[in-house]
Amino acid sequence: MARKNRKKLIRDIAQQQIQRLFELADVISKTRPELSDRYIHMAKQIGMRHRVRIPSQLKRRMCKHCGKYLVPGRTCRVRLNYARVIITCYACGKQIRYPYKTQGN
Ligand SMILES: [Zn+2]
Repeated sequence: MARKNRKKLIRDIAQQQIQRLFELADVISKTRPELSDRYIHMAKQIGMRHRVRIPSQLKRRMCKHCGKYLVPGRTCRVRLNYARVIITCYACGKQIRYPYKTQGN
């Protein structure tokens, strides 16, 4: 029914908004890093509210511990270790690891 389509539409819009917020965060991170943190926080909230999954490539731009927007060399350090990527967040000092080669990605 129409209701179902509406729900799908809202999710589509939510997904676009998430994508857009991450793009904005990227642009603004050079001049206003505190704003990019806000943008990804908003993206996370939209994702939770509408149960939309944040794409994994975008998720990796965000510290899962403190929510900081991650810019390699500026707000985080990226190291490759065998089959893993290790990101160290400068804000909270914690590490995020994920496989270098992921399946279905
Ligand atoms: Zn952090």
